Amino acid sequence: MKTIQDIDFKGKKAIIRVDFNVPLDENFKVTDTTRIEAAKPTIIKILEDGGAVILMSHLGRPKGVEEKYSLKHIVETVSEIIGVSVKFATDCVGEVAEAAVADLKMGEVLLLENLRFYAEEEKGDVAFAQKLAKLGDVYVNDAFGTAHRAHASTTIVAQFFPEAKCFGALLAQEIISLKKILEEGEKPVLAVLGGSKVSSKITIIENILDKVDHLIIGGGMSFTFVKALGGKIGNSICEDDKQELALDILKQAKAKGVTVHIPVDVVAADAFSNDANTQICDINSIPDGWQGLDAGPKSVELFDKVVNQCKTILWNGPLGVFEMESFANGTIELGNSIAKATKNGTFSLVGGGDSVAAVKQFGFEDKVSYVSTGGGAMLESLEGKVLPGIEAILK
Ligand code: AMP
Repeated sequence: MKTIQDIDFKGKKAIIRVDFNVPLDENFKVTDTTRIEAAKPTIIKILEDGGAVILMSHLGRPKGVEEKYSLKHIVETVSEIIGVSVKFATDCVGEVAEAAVADLKMGEVLLLENLRFYAEEEKGDVAFAQKLAKLGDVYVNDAFGTAHRAHASTTIVAQFFPEAKCFGALLAQEIISLKKILEEGEKPVLAVLGGSKVSSKITIIENILDKVDHLIIGGGMSFTFVKALGGKIGNSICEDDKQELALDILKQAKAKGVTVHIPVDVVAADAFSNDANTQICDINSIPDGWQGLDAGPKSVELFDKVVNQCKTILWNGPLGVFEMESFANGTIELGNSIAKATKNGTFSLVGGGDSVAAVKQFGFEDKVSYVSTGGGAMLESLEGKVLPGIEAILK
């Protein structure tokens, strides 16, 4: 795996695909700088080597050129974060971009305009990728968030740099962290899968069964399993057409020696509302008119025991409707358990959409080993897919 550490960038102009798809407020101020900060180590390494940096990214989902999606809005923030005054090119290809690159001196940073102002970007257009490739001597991919897309700047462009291409520090870190879970995880390995639907996680479950010793199935997803096993789930969320599949997963797990843990009790509510009446129920006997919206105290205790006996943990998906305060406890307690295990030497990775949001919201970000930056890219990696953006560098 070739990374920025394997290249001396002295005298080179490096074109880096970063993920600067950051949220902006109504005054076009960046409201969350995490993604820009995450790209900093790669940019600094290249500048310190004596190279020049050309940054390319998308922002939002523009339909053609739309001023509100211009990357000019973030130039100041990027400059502040990396500590270098960043230049801006009002186009990402063609004469304007080429002139800006020609003017660029070593030690300087140039940000190109939004890649998605061209439909060719998402189409993975080869001619467009070639125009991007013309701008740099070396191609660096540091955008995990888009690595699952075969877009011009994330994948296709790499073919024009047969030798001079590598992973940025952030993307390398994502790959290494995933490897620590899926290939080199110290045993026992645990996956905690929560969230609302079995159907959206099925490929992950099937892939992960070969890698883990323990599997916790929590959140809304668990009710399909409970019902399939003959439990009474009241009005809890359930995918009836996935009951067979749930039983099959349990059979496969048994055959593979994976211990599956399902909640034993729930916080049930008489409405899908933060102010609903609640009661703690055994998971197999939720009354009609009531729905399980969070893991109950016995489940929390059970999961804590499992978490603390494992040396490698993957967490994807909340254990309850954590967006509502009344049903956030199970997710928070799981976070506490994982934080405690991490402190004791366990490697923990949190990845994929809602669990990342939960980890940030409840302040566990610095208490787990790694929080992935890529939602869809992380999910596809967990499904066992080789991401095109990663493959393009490895080729
Ligand atoms: P996913 O996108 O599949 O990871 O699911 C995340 C969503 O699942 C979150 O918005 C949670 O509110 C929701 N969720 C978790 N547990 C439950 C539950 N018991 N009932 C309904 N929704 C749930």
